Amino acid sequence: ILPLSNRMQRLPSQFFAGLTQQVQAYIEQGRDVINLGQGNPDLPTPAHIVEALRDSVQDPATHRYGPFHGLASLRSACAEFYRREYGVVLDPDSEVAILFGGKAGLIEISQIYLNEGDVALVPDPGYPDYESGIKIAGARMATMPLVPEQHFMPDLEAALASEPDAKLMFLNYPSNPTGAVVDSSLFEQVVRMAQSRKMLVVHDFAYASIGFDSIRPMSFLEVEGARDCGIEIYTLSKTYNMAGWRVAFAVGQKEAIAALKLYHNHAYVSLFPAIQKAAESALLGPQDEVHQRTEIYQKRRDAFYLALHQKGISAKPPQGTFFGWLPLPEGISSLDFASRLLQEKGVAVAAGVGFGQHGEGYVRVGFLDREERLMEAAHRIADWMIQNQ
Ligand code: PLP
Repeated sequence: ILPLSNRMQRLPSQFFAGLTQQVQAYIEQGRDVINLGQGNPDLPTPAHIVEALRDSVQDPATHRYGPFHGLASLRSACAEFYRREYGVVLDPDSEVAILFGGKAGLIEISQIYLNEGDVALVPDPGYPDYESGIKIAGARMATMPLVPEQHFMPDLEAALASEPDAKLMFLNYPSNPTGAVVDSSLFEQVVRMAQSRKMLVVHDFAYASIGFDSIRPMSFLEVEGARDCGIEIYTLSKTYNMAGWRVAFAVGQKEAIAALKLYHNHAYVSLFPAIQKAAESALLGPQDEVHQRTEIYQKRRDAFYLALHQKGISAKPPQGTFFGWLPLPEGISSLDFASRLLQEKGVAVAAGVGFGQHGEGYVRVGFLDREERLMEAAHRIADWMIQNQ
């Protein structure tokens, strides 16, 4: 049997695969499992976007290869979207690249910039795919701890003092898994520090549309100078409930955008043009459902934390994303907690350690079921904690 390449062998195994299998097995046995362990939005894509796909798929022009740099009309729609939402004016030709989902963009950027042995900084806890891209590139990941005392923001000075040659720095706000949102000060600081270095900042803006209590998550590009030293990755997966459609875009530094397009030309040519047309209608069409969904997530969040409080468990609710980041009682690992909660109470959550060493002591809870189910889950979690005190 042909051995896998070194690159492939470096890939971490899928940390949450075991949990997913276990949940599936319980569901097949007919057990009442409340699955809050994954990040797959449960609400449907707005109907006008689905209709736009149906209409464009009838047009034979969408059956051919599209341009490798993405449809010009979609790149213009992305620029228009950034102008409308963030007041950021972008050149659609040189500052926008269409991506095959945000995840692909995050993996590609490591292949584009990292040589073997290079260093990339990532938040800990953070989205696990930053590590995957860095590992495939043969580079080294250095972590920036996120702790509640610092509002889950990294200590940038310490990070760059210990890794002065870091080539990439990944940031993600609103943050998966902590649910933290930042104001402009962190972004301003990172721009100041990146400007004097050969380093690219990659801001992952996956939960851009989900800020609670009237908080409006800000784009990295709103900060002056950001587009000279960084890119932002915007996915349609969460904003428009289009996770299965695999469409996202990157905006910002021209050199990085050009490199992403070149990579796409060599690897895939273009995203299915009909999906690109539908993405245009998402970005330019009515936005009321986007706001309604944020309200739905906020109501679910409130229901979940209210139910916890009713049982005497206090925890701080997140400011954005659709995740709660729940501290665990002393003395139990996040993996043991997640596994026992599933076995004993039929609630699936994601063990914090799967997001990095600083995720130990927490579990991530997705607000991806109805309010009643979230309240029921909160009661079961609280009961477990009380019974095991
Ligand atoms: N970044 C973060 C923080 C995420 O949570 C996700 C998906 O869960 C992604 C990126 C990737 O999104 P997609 O590949 O669907 O665009």
